Amino acid sequence: MNALETADIIGLDERHVMATYARAPVVFTRGSGSRLYDADGREYLDFLCGLAVTSLGHAHPAVAEALADQARQLLHVSNLFHNDVQPRLAQRLDALLAGATGQHGRCFFANSGAEANEAAIKLARRIGQRAGGPGRYEIVSAMRSFHGRTLTTLAATGQPEKQEIFEPLPSGFRHVPFGDPHALAGAVDDRVCAVILEVVQAEGGMNMAPSGYLAAVRELCDDRGALLIIDEVQTGLGRTGRWFAFEHASVIPDIVTLAKALGNGVPIGACWARGDVADGFGPGDHATTFGGQPLAARAALEVLTVLEDEDAPGRAASAGERLTRSLCDLAAVDGVRGLGLLLAAELRPGLDAPRVVRICLESGLVVNALTPSAVRFTPSLLVSDDEIDEALEIFAAALDAAAATSSPEVKS
Ligand SMILES: *Cc1c(COP(=O)(O)O)cnc(C)c1O
Repeated sequence: MNALETADIIGLDERHVMATYARAPVVFTRGSGSRLYDADGREYLDFLCGLAVTSLGHAHPAVAEALADQARQLLHVSNLFHNDVQPRLAQRLDALLAGATGQHGRCFFANSGAEANEAAIKLARRIGQRAGGPGRYEIVSAMRSFHGRTLTTLAATGQPEKQEIFEPLPSGFRHVPFGDPHALAGAVDDRVCAVILEVVQAEGGMNMAPSGYLAAVRELCDDRGALLIIDEVQTGLGRTGRWFAFEHASVIPDIVTLAKALGNGVPIGACWARGDVADGFGPGDHATTFGGQPLAARAALEVLTVLEDEDAPGRAASAGERLTRSLCDLAAVDGVRGLGLLLAAELRPGLDAPRVVRICLESGLVVNALTPSAVRFTPSLLVSDDEIDEALEIFAAALDAAAATSSPEVKS
């Protein structure tokens, strides 16, 4: 593609792309490992990774090679036929999930996190209505959860401010306070086919499930005959220091959804269910044109190989400790929450996270404002100690700059 000036690209975007994003005025054109480069050739440290997507960093050579090789062989074939990549990916994912749950299962492949959750919801309804009759279709989810932006996954999402402008939403969803087993017990009756939860509510503010909560949820689901869906779209595949975040809570889900890191940037989502649950879907019940097509599946297969070869969960755990320690050492940071390399730094009162993030970007560090007062850190799982130290230096200077220019009444 011919090079365009930053201002020209932003102008094109404003004229031709729907204004659903409040974008920062930066145009990225290239990346390598933990580094991003903009259209003016400026270098940035990427501690956001496309929202926990590029866990192996940018332009990973093995992934790039696999993609080029697959593009020369076969990009796409309809799910009316077999392709030689999709079942291999399913086998690899099942090996990881069987390792974490002690149960084998099967996968349905989609193109995004929302679609993976959509598949999980449809599967749970099939199982529920078979076992409990046509009235058993409701899904219970948590307030401040995030499960996607399609109408149905938005209905599952417990964030009224995102929902209200699109009402009416599909029916059959109930929301309970996250972390409260009693509220859940009151909501899961014989109309409920499944409970869907995140172990860490990342989009909702990096809210952690209190200890013992998920075990209580599991017990309740068993008691009432409801399935437990764990949404690992953001937490899955090593980011939290384990392959799956539910391993931290020693809980065994029936259905697991994955997406963000699975393709390291190539769009792919997966819904895994243990064997007897996966049997709920038969031919014709659910489908998507692109799901599990050779290119995306090949990318994911290579991503899993590299994640395993590099012991990505172990690296996320140790790098996460270093990053957490360094963040906690900053006087302007009130606290750090999250797991592994899925972290949020809560800023001292008076500091505005969007402003700090803007200064970071101007200084060459990509992070994002998770809430008005918290900054999200989701670097590559292969990030080096030096890169962590470099990012922290930029972040500390940005906090100083923001404090120096904040209004006097908040500064004191
Ligand atoms: C990002 C995210 C989704 C939605 O994924 P999309 O690919 O944007 O549809 C769903 N659940 C969780 C937990 C997420 O973080």
